[in-house]
Formats: sequence, C-alpha cells, structure tokens
Amino acid sequence: MIQKMVYADNAATTKLAPEALAAMMPYLTEEYGNPSSLYAFGQSAREGVTAARETVAACLGCLPAEVYFTSGGSEADNWAIKMAAAAMKQKGKHHIISTEFEHHAVLHTLDALKKQGFEVTLLPVYDNGIVRVEDVAAALRPETGLVTVMFANNEIGTVQPIAAIGALCRDAGVLFHTDAVQAVGHIPVNFAEMNIDMLSLSAHKFHGPKGVGALLCRRGVRFGNLIDGGAQENRRRAGTENTAGIVGMATALKLCCDRMEDTMPAVTQKRDRLIDGLLAACVRSRLNGDRTARLPGNVNISFEGIEGESLLLMLDMFGICASSGSACTSGSLDPSHVLLSIGLEHAVAHGSLRLTIAEDTTNEDIDYILEKVPPVVARLREMSPLWEHIIKAD
Ligand SMILES: *Cc1c(COP(=O)(O)O)cnc(C)c1O
Repeated sequence: MIQKMVYADNAATTKLAPEALAAMMPYLTEEYGNPSSLYAFGQSAREGVTAARETVAACLGCLPAEVYFTSGGSEADNWAIKMAAAAMKQKGKHHIISTEFEHHAVLHTLDALKKQGFEVTLLPVYDNGIVRVEDVAAALRPETGLVTVMFANNEIGTVQPIAAIGALCRDAGVLFHTDAVQAVGHIPVNFAEMNIDMLSLSAHKFHGPKGVGALLCRRGVRFGNLIDGGAQENRRRAGTENTAGIVGMATALKLCCDRMEDTMPAVTQKRDRLIDGLLAACVRSRLNGDRTARLPGNVNISFEGIEGESLLLMLDMFGICASSGSACTSGSLDPSHVLLSIGLEHAVAHGSLRLTIAEDTTNEDIDYILEKVPPVVARLREMSPLWEHIIKAD
C-alpha cells in the first residue's frame, strides 16, 4: 500500500529546492577545482563562491564582505558569541544579555561562557513568547558587551522586535547578534536597516543543503577566528570552501526571497486554517506563542492530558511528520525549555505538537492533518489516566 506522507516538520529541516540542486551539480562533478587555486580551473569555483556571497548579501541587506560562510547555524552562533566574548574580555566587559528561549546552540554556548566567568542575563518572553524591548533596555549595564536575541523562535515561531532591539543596542554601543536561522528565507530580514551587528543563518532551513550556513558580521566589528588555518573567508574561517553547498545555499535563498511576497500570504492562510481547525476540534487545547507575530508556517498546540511523544508515533502511522514539545532533548523527560519559558506547566508542555508547513504544503495536506489529528488526540485521551483526572476535576 502506498501511504500518503505529509511533511510538517520544516522547522527541523526542509526539502532541497530542485533549483538549488541544479546549481550545485556542476561543483559536485566537473567543476571540482579548489577556489584558492591560481589556475583558471580553480577560478571558476572561486567565481561560484564570489557570486554566492554577492547573492546572499543582496538578499539580506549587507555587504558581500560582511558574509562569512560556515558549516551551518550552530557554528555561526558559536562563532558570533564566543568571539564577541573574547573581544569583551579585552575591554573588561563580562555581561551578556539573551533570552530564556534561545536555541541550544546559543544557550549552551552561553553556559560554556558562564563557566569562564561571564555573567548572563536571560530575559523572560512572557506568555506570548515575545521579548520586550524595555526589558532589554533595563538589563543593559556599563559592563554589558553583547545582546543576543533570536529573530524567530524555532518551536513556537514567534517573531521578535529585532529592529527595535538593534536600534537600542546601536545607541548603547553594545554588540547585537541575532540567531535568524528560522527567519531567513521566510520573513523579511534586513541586516543594515535593522542595525544588526552579527546574524546567523543556515541553508537547510530554507530549502538549501545541509551543512552550510553563514555568519553575517558588520564591517568594523572586531572579531577573531573560530577555525585557524588557511586564508579563506578573509582569513577568518579556515578550510577549503564547501563550493557546492555555498552555491546551493545562495540559490535557495534567492528563490525564497524572490517569491516571499507571493508565497507568505498563502502559507499564513494555511497555518491559520490548521490552528483554527485543531483548536475547534479539540477541547482543552491551546495555541502556544503569539497568534499573529509568528512565522507563516508555524503551528504549536498543546493538548491537555496526552503525551506528545505518543501523539507523534500515532501520527507517524498516518504518514504525518511532526515534532513534539521535547524533540530537542529527545531521550530525556524534560519538557521543552521554550514551552516552559512561556509559562506552560510541565504536563501541558508534554502534550504539545509542532506542525511547521512550507510553500509546497497543499490544502489537501491541511485537510489530511485536520482529519487525522483530532481522533488521535481523542483516542490517546481515552487511554490517559491524566485526562481522566482532568475531566473529574471539572
Ligand atoms: C536549526 C537551528 C539552528 C542550528 O542550525 P544548524 O545549521 O542545524 O546547525 C540554530 N538556531 C535555530 C533557531 C535553528 O532553528
């Protein structure tokens, strides 16, 4: 039997765009030269990398010289934060401001810095999942050297007031980094206009290949190397370039940015149909994160009285790929730090489902999810002692 599959986990990774694959193919086959070589054969690989740098810069509102290619979002986050911290140390600053619901690539990097004596303030994000600009302002101190706030959250999709935080930090003379991995390619991002000093992105979150990303770093910002060696990336990130990956990333990014205005409303509409349908069909369910200030493709709903993991397994039997509230710490029983940060109780956080749709998600896919999820939730509740307890308490 051929089973239907609905991929609704685009926040975890996305399908490679055929256009990106086509652009990559020459560099995986005939054009295998090393971009650093002096002969003409290597030059064509070099031109591919140079053109990709210009494309990324044009899409995101920065200079080509401000683009540093990396192996992905985690490396970009580590590089930005660790190098900012090293520069802070030289200036005698030791305080960093971030938020409670950052990606682990940021939070664990900050944990490592705390062990080295840095002080970290994690701001609350309230029940709507949005950090307040006035909280950032209130947390600034003379010894603050870095503010790092994600552009959009990977679990609940909430979009942060990045331009306002950027303006605040620029005025205060404090470096501002944003993990924009979930935002780039999905909503408008402009590095210069939003007063961002450092920005992380990752290709596989916008239909590019895995294992490639970039750190944008504003010209004039002093920062050191994460990887020492050859002279690639303006001597700041050594290692022979991932030519095919870089070219694929730039192609996917341009594709997403060019069509964004056309695709965003339709994706948003499907998202809202999914949210409304699930909330209406399931009692004691709630949407996590702000209703409107959220990514076009993000749905995150908690169903009281069930285990998200069981829900995922049952949806998998129907060919629906989704994620739960504890996917990032799989193997552990801790609920997601993101859901706890917006005030959910542990039990409720455990019953969460994240569905992240994309441009190619069809209305039939939405219908299919709306048909399958409510009966599965009902069935799990029938078997759940926790649900019995909730009902009795009513
Ligand atoms: C996926 C993700 C990352 C990590 O990116 P990789 O390229 O997989 O290392 C970092 N931050 C956020 C918000 C993400 O969603």
